[in-house]
Amino acid sequence: MDAPSEPVFPCSVCGRKFIKSSLEKHVSACKKLASLHRKPFDSGKQRANGSDITYADVKKAQKEKTKNGGVFPRPQTNWRERHGNFIDAVSSSKRVDYALKTGAPLPPPPRTAVPSGKLLKSFMRREK
Ligand SMILES: [Zn+2]
Repeated sequence: MDAPSEPVFPCSVCGRKFIKSSLEKHVSACKKLASLHRKPFDSGKQRANGSDITYADVKKAQKEKTKNGGVFPRPQTNWRERHGNFIDAVSSSKRVDYALKTGAPLPPPPRTAVPSGKLLKSFMRREK
């Protein structure tokens, strides 16, 4: 513990008070620390790690966000449509399953399987 009689001086960087003998040591360390912390924390860099989104993608999105006045642009995905196709495929596969079990007429192929005959075949094979 510091002797209460010793005069303390505020650190010019963080304002914490130290006795003269520790102040100099602290200020040099504190300045180093402050210069490290002055860099704005780039959350995008961290977010991009370990995901399939590249750092450039994040930077681009951040730029777009700034352009939009701090609002992220609407994602340009057709997830709703793709989701619908997925639901179609699932419900269709259920109908195929039902048709195979009961001998009922096969339902029309799902929308997602139409462009690719291969996809439909592997789809049908899996059902048997
Ligand atoms: Zn300090």
